[in-house]
Amino acid sequence: QPQAKARSVSILGATGSIGSSTVDLIKRSPDRFRVEAVTANSNAAALAMVARELGARVAVLADESGYAELKAALAGSGIETAAGEAGLIEAAQRPADWVMAAIAGAVGLKPTLAAIERGATVALANKECLVCAGSLFMRRAKASGAAVLPVDSEHNAVFQALGAGRREDVSRVILTASGGPFRTWTLDAIKAATPEQALKHPNWSMGPKVTIDSATLMNKGLELIEAHHLFGLAPDEIEVLVHPQSVVHGLVEFRDGSVVAQLGPADMRVPIAHCLAYPERLDGPVPRLDLAALRELTFENPDLTRFPALGLARQAMIAGGAAPTVLNAADEVAVAEFMAGRLSFAGIAALVEATLEAAGKRGLLAEPLSVEAALAVDHTARGLARELLLNNAVKAF
Ligand code: NAD
Ligand code: MG
Repeated sequence: QPQAKARSVSILGATGSIGSSTVDLIKRSPDRFRVEAVTANSNAAALAMVARELGARVAVLADESGYAELKAALAGSGIETAAGEAGLIEAAQRPADWVMAAIAGAVGLKPTLAAIERGATVALANKECLVCAGSLFMRRAKASGAAVLPVDSEHNAVFQALGAGRREDVSRVILTASGGPFRTWTLDAIKAATPEQALKHPNWSMGPKVTIDSATLMNKGLELIEAHHLFGLAPDEIEVLVHPQSVVHGLVEFRDGSVVAQLGPADMRVPIAHCLAYPERLDGPVPRLDLAALRELTFENPDLTRFPALGLARQAMIAGGAAPTVLNAADEVAVAEFMAGRLSFAGIAALVEATLEAAGKRGLLAEPLSVEAALAVDHTARGLARELLLNNAVKAF
């Protein structure tokens, strides 16, 4: 079989959950990929290991205090090193055909945009950057000709299903949600859930932030906003369906009543492999789906009373402007506070709601027209959220 020219790739957030799955797939197909840049936040040893394993040209650590360790760990390897925000942006600007954007949180916005602006194909895992500055992000991608391939399993599923018809014939898109660890819990039990309980996701193994967001269903809320921007869908064209088995990841309904869905094992290497080889396919290392062994797939509507975060995110999507930016910033603060034991589980949605309200009162919800404006709203919203916490303004502690 003739081999196509190796695709050059960079991985932003190479040491995280998505990053590690990407590294795993690349190591299994060494002839198909050549690695340009790998980045991480502060774990110099882990980054150095990934850089050596992949034979990357450059390794960049966001946290400058770990630079000496990174440099020492890569001494004699021929791999270039850098650190800091500027280094991260330069890593994204390096000439790789394909960039995995897998930094967690709004801090991924600038490096991801740097890859978008040079017209690279961007495999987008970092949903927060679409929530924080979605209109702007998609405008920039359109202007530069960058292709955005969705890594998030639901969006990847929808992307694949959309291939079955014309965009103007789509009537509805459905994102599935596992329902998280508290799907069957009572409201009172959920309110008092601990970080340890919230970190036990029934189906997926992921980084801590997205796991907590899956327990509140804020993750599905962020994904509504993500789908709205990625596919140019109106808010009332996107629905959420709870599907505890996580086998059907997303569905597209066409105007004739046909529904096309993508199914697969709950392993992020499936959507990542789709993006890595797109429009070709890779031999996936994951166990094949065995529907007879699963026997049944079930579906139910989400309960917005027990999971208010999903309703808040839908409202923010409908409101538009900077409401999603504030929602995302407040959620990042709330999740960190919850993990630190300073906020109850119910307090996460309560803090997000209170922050949105406070931001509205201060007139902060106009559409951010530049990256700087979006990041300024993000910064102010984090401050507002912390202020609300300090003043005990959020009940449900
Ligand atoms: P993670 O926490 O496991 O990894 C995050 C990566 O980003 C790490 O490499 C870390 O070093 C880097 N990073 C963190 N803070 C940084 C900073 N300040 N500056 C630079 N780099 C920083 O997260 P993850 O679960 O891999 O998720 C990554 C993104 O993918 C998130 O946006 C998440 O919502 C999304 N996502 C993840 C999954 C999943 O299965 N894990 C599924 C869908 C979407
Ligand atoms: Mg998802």
